Amino acid sequence: MSEELLRLEHLSIDYKVKDGYLSAVKDINFTINKGEIFAVVGESGCGKSTVAHSIMNLLPGGNEEITGKIIFKGKDLRTCTKGEMEKIRGKEIGMIFQNPLDSLNPVYTVGSQVSEAILLDKVDKQEAWNRVVKLFQDVKMPDAKERVNSFPHELSGGMRQRVMIAMMLSRNPELLIADEPTTALDVTIEAQILDIIKDLKEKFNTSIMLITHNFGLVAEVADRIGIMYAGEMVETGDVFEIFAHPTHPYTRLLMQALPRKTKHEGRLQTIEGSVPRITEKKPGCRFANRCPYAEEICRTEDPPARVVGENHVCSCHLAGKEEK
Ligand code: SF4
Repeated sequence: MSEELLRLEHLSIDYKVKDGYLSAVKDINFTINKGEIFAVVGESGCGKSTVAHSIMNLLPGGNEEITGKIIFKGKDLRTCTKGEMEKIRGKEIGMIFQNPLDSLNPVYTVGSQVSEAILLDKVDKQEAWNRVVKLFQDVKMPDAKERVNSFPHELSGGMRQRVMIAMMLSRNPELLIADEPTTALDVTIEAQILDIIKDLKEKFNTSIMLITHNFGLVAEVADRIGIMYAGEMVETGDVFEIFAHPTHPYTRLLMQALPRKTKHEGRLQTIEGSVPRITEKKPGCRFANRCPYAEEICRTEDPPARVVGENHVCSCHLAGKEEK
């Protein structure tokens, strides 16, 4: 039976503005089990990174109000002190970002930066260095023994991302949050980084929360998927179940927008319109202005989350009622 590692319960994040609050993320619920890849998919600005940063307690701070629970290994991270959270970050939960250059120090070699993380475990310098080389090999860095002596600017984008993954691996976290880790890379390198992510799960039983706007990617690597739209999780389920029975109209449109294998399969679909801004407050379903199936109720009442299959939940007024 799967063992739960992380559970978000009714997580909502609102930002305080002059005359009230703006909802950035609303009532998010999902679980990540040990050794599982959970992909969070959605267009830019739908709140994926906000959720990830809230797990790490890395939101800018000051004007946000957070409600709900973030349970990691049975403990609500929202009740942790700053010191407790610092110990969890890196050691138990690691994070890699879209642009590794933002996280690497330009004046130190990448090897010394990774070994610094290992030295926190009080191992001697030679042993730390040997581990760095091994980690670089684990993340399939070309010429690993030489690359440890490179500075960040001497490496390609794909190599820098490998360094970041090696750095996270050096702490052996139980959960790795990968926030759009392949967005800035070309497709060949993207495929290689995804292979490394899959390897992590298999070799080290690491759980991974993979954040991406690329629905096509998740079919390759994820065990389960959560689809976010305008700050809400509109559908969650096992990857095979979602691809076989996509239920939310947004999920269906995302699937129709996937590149086809042959030119005979017709033109790519696009999703008309754009994600509403958090300043646009309207009652009802946030997707109503783009949804081809919208009905009157969609514009007045929030759609409830309904179980529509095994481990499959969808928030749509029409879900489970009729074949759309
Ligand atoms: Fe479309 Fe209505 Fe379902 Fe929203 S609730 S996705 S508008 S059918």
